[in-house]
Amino acid sequence: MYINELSLLSKTLLVIGILNFLLLLFSSIISYRENERRAAVRLLLLSVILPLPFLIIASVSFIYQSLLSLILLLLTVIVILLLIIPMGKKHITEDDTPKSRIDERDVMFSRNLLEPGSQRFEEYYQRRPEKRELDDSIRKEPGYLSKGSKYYDPYLFSATAAGFTTIRHLRQHIDGDHADEKIKTDPEKITCFIKSWAKKMGAVSVGVTELKDYHLYATNGRGDDYGKPVTCDHKYAIALTVEMGFEMMQPAPLASAAMETAQKYLVCGFIAFEIAEFIRNLGYPARAHIDGRYYIVCPLVARDAGLGEIGRMGLLMTPKLGPRVRIAVVSTDLPLITDKRTFDYSVIDFCTQCKKCADVCPSRAIPFDDRKEINGVKRWQINQEKCFTMWCRLGTDCSRCASVCPYSHPDNFLHNLIRKGIRNSSIFRKAALQLDDFFYGRKPAPKELPEWVRL
Ligand code: SF4
Ligand code: SF4
Repeated sequence: MYINELSLLSKTLLVIGILNFLLLLFSSIISYRENERRAAVRLLLLSVILPLPFLIIASVSFIYQSLLSLILLLLTVIVILLLIIPMGKKHITEDDTPKSRIDERDVMFSRNLLEPGSQRFEEYYQRRPEKRELDDSIRKEPGYLSKGSKYYDPYLFSATAAGFTTIRHLRQHIDGDHADEKIKTDPEKITCFIKSWAKKMGAVSVGVTELKDYHLYATNGRGDDYGKPVTCDHKYAIALTVEMGFEMMQPAPLASAAMETAQKYLVCGFIAFEIAEFIRNLGYPARAHIDGRYYIVCPLVARDAGLGEIGRMGLLMTPKLGPRVRIAVVSTDLPLITDKRTFDYSVIDFCTQCKKCADVCPSRAIPFDDRKEINGVKRWQINQEKCFTMWCRLGTDCSRCASVCPYSHPDNFLHNLIRKGIRNSSIFRKAALQLDDFFYGRKPAPKELPEWVRL
């Protein structure tokens, strides 16, 4: 049958069938290039199967052809409408301002630095005797980046350690005196300049918020200031994120993910370092908050600066890369224009249903249940002791959770379309969850190390 002999209804079905085929084939090619073989094969099969009803009903004459065509068209329209019409709660309306500040000395990374027999060690466990047994058991594990750990790799562990050593050198200069002469700046222009410059240096997103008390740790838990109250009276905080490479994170918990983590801590720390130096040169105080020397809780500052919301893993979930980012912050008194927080409820709703990170977590550190009230705020909290025990056993920072998160897929047209739908509609979120499991698996196996890191 020639196309121009077909009815309008049949032509419409034909076009839908062909579009269906092209979209699925395109998605299959993208998945193949992302090294997602399972998704690529399934999409390829679907690109053959799904358009068939459209093509057959459109091109074969039979007694109920018009009726079936109409039903198929209606079904298609209903499904599309259900997916694209905004549905469900859009904004976080509850007050999620933390009611007290965190003592950094209780954070697992600080506790891990306590040397048995030292004064800090004795003082800490006198104050927190309940943590002693657990921490002692963690000390018996081989240790993060240590020989004897499960994924020990002399090259990748050395590369990771090199990243952290370089950060240590930066730490000595994150703060300092500012120039005597204050240069008068236009807040709008200088905010735009800093954001554009940070992006030029490698940041994927940059936001500004007023620095609040609850952003700050209560007490320092690392370095020379250990045990001193955290004070920072700067008015603003600039938060920036840097992408952790997809290819390096996919093999998590293998060591490429640890190497990538250290490297991106360094990149975002370096950007923050340079911006803080720049602001001090303009005559205003500024401090870079980088790995190991934070005065602030980075995800909270980044959330308030409009860069995302906090999900089940307790990490910042950014709109385009999910948790696959590292964050650094610059606090300053330089007058800046602040951004608005997103208050994006879709992240909370999606995380409430998804639980993929909790499912793959080898230490069961991520909660499966709904958010609980902690410190006056409804949130999820991971069990940091369980998580860190796993790090010390594996030798890497594991990162299985971040690597499988449906928000962590690459920042491209296909995944951004899905993310847009997730933000838009509660029905789309349900569908996206099922599809993510179908295409990538409920517990996707870690990918192989990229070839260039296999030494
Ligand atoms: S894996 Fe799922 S539940 Fe976990 S953070 Fe990502 S979206 Fe949320
Ligand atoms: S890093 Fe690993 S152990 Fe820690 S919460 Fe994520 S999946 Fe669990």
